[in-house]
Amino acid sequence: MKTVLITGASRGIGQAIARRLAGSYNLVINYNHSKDKALSLLGELREINPNIIAVKADVSKEREVDEVFNQAEKNFGHVDILINNAGISHFSLIQDETADDFDKIVATNLRSVFLTTKRAAPSMISHKYGVIVNISSIWGKEGASMESLYSLTKGGINAFTKAISKELAPSGIRVNAIAPGIVDTDMMRGDFNREELEELEKNLPLGRFARPSEVADLLAFLISDEGSYITGNIADINGGFY
Ligand code: NAP
Repeated sequence: MKTVLITGASRGIGQAIARRLAGSYNLVINYNHSKDKALSLLGELREINPNIIAVKADVSKEREVDEVFNQAEKNFGHVDILINNAGISHFSLIQDETADDFDKIVATNLRSVFLTTKRAAPSMISHKYGVIVNISSIWGKEGASMESLYSLTKGGINAFTKAISKELAPSGIRVNAIAPGIVDTDMMRGDFNREELEELEKNLPLGRFARPSEVADLLAFLISDEGSYITGNIADINGGFY
């Protein structure tokens, strides 16, 4: 069985990805603050597959990223598939943003992707196989008002995905990103009040937000052998929003 490492799998999209993949892969579920949720997910998924571990790490920190990989390698030998999902949002006018806000969101959303990719690459290269999927956002392509720093990190992920896909393709490694529109998770519930959410939902062509499981279904296809000729792609899943 191939081994998949998912960052930020305690809640939301990462949790849905873990549920979707649990029957078919060894899994490393990374979490940071939500220990109870991660352990409860671990208990649930181990009923399906005993080859699942949960590892705490702040993926913006190099030493902690190294430790997640060490745990993965100790348990399963090697990480075949890396899912960079961990992320935070930040809603603010540019004049109210601080340099600390910039550093925090860039470290969590972008530095983490660099750190995990750098750590995963040597082993994938030596196996001549690997798949990396980065969870980006519609705002990395379109840019969102009052989410300039978030948009910046997701645009950075898109460019990094394309660049690294070219660099690693000769080693049999595929690198793609998924750019969701609005997905029904804590992240978007935290950013908007109920009225705003209803208004947003009404204006979407499909008339509703994405379910986390729908993002997980697209990801499952991208990492499978059915997606074997797809690399360097930023895959839209936004209900027709753009
Ligand atoms: P969420 O419900 O807020 O969950 C975020 C996850 O990221 C949690 O599991 C959290 O873990 C983890 N995380 C945050 N900082 C971390 C860190 N430093 N180290 C390790 N884990 C960390 O968010 P979501 O909506 O599922 O978002 C998942 C990804 O999809 C993000 O990259 C987000 O930008 C992207 N996305 C979301 C939407 C949307 O509408 N929801 C749309 C487009 C893209 P802990 O709780 O354990 O700390």
